[in-house]
Amino acid sequence: MSKSQTTQTWKRSLPAKAVVMARKSSSKKALPKSELLIQAAAAPAANRKSETLDEICADLGACQRCKLGKSRTNIVFGDGNPKAELVFVGEAPGENEDLEGRPFIGRAGQLLEKMIEAMGLSRSEVYICNVVKCRPPENRNPETDEIESCSPFLFRQLDQIQPKVVVALGKFAAQTLLQTETRISELRGKFYPYRGAKLIPTFHPAYLLRNPPSKREAWEDLQLVAKELGLEIPKKSP
Ligand code: SF4
Repeated sequence: MSKSQTTQTWKRSLPAKAVVMARKSSSKKALPKSELLIQAAAAPAANRKSETLDEICADLGACQRCKLGKSRTNIVFGDGNPKAELVFVGEAPGENEDLEGRPFIGRAGQLLEKMIEAMGLSRSEVYICNVVKCRPPENRNPETDEIESCSPFLFRQLDQIQPKVVVALGKFAAQTLLQTETRISELRGKFYPYRGAKLIPTFHPAYLLRNPPSKREAWEDLQLVAKELGLEIPKKSP
């Protein structure tokens, strides 16, 4: 199947005109704890160090900073344009990613590529990475100590790439990056200030494969992203 066919296939299940809405929060009411935590996570990085992604990767080395280092095959550092305006952050590498050392290359990765192409971009124009860089055994959720060990490298990557928009893919990435337990269905659909960028949570492609009707909401989120980046979304697939 050609790229244009696969893009068309993904878009076929989307509404002709997806409604783009950003839910607005009141600034007058006292903020709930979850909102306060989100604001704390949003703080711009202080003392941003100048370094390249290669230097960050070299610093990671053959990392054994957490127990995931023992079971992984490859570290999945990240992939794409080091100057990308748009960065996607998922949860953790899966089996295929662990074997090849690249993020999002299985079925979920193929869907993510179709979503990117539907926005009028290519995979090589964006940057894709995960909250943790080694595959958790049996694809379990990363644990707190693993996130604490690995996330500083993600923050350094984001601080160097300096994207305009970060898309947190799925509940785990969104809740971890925003330091909240708010449900993804409540978090999605709006932007949060995040380390000098704007972060928007949306559903993980793996979830969309299991729940195709949610593609409509994911597309609404990506349309918000496209608008933020000044992209013109093709009305028809190329
Ligand atoms: S998950 Fe991150 S911190 Fe843990 S071993 Fe892998 S690269 Fe190192």
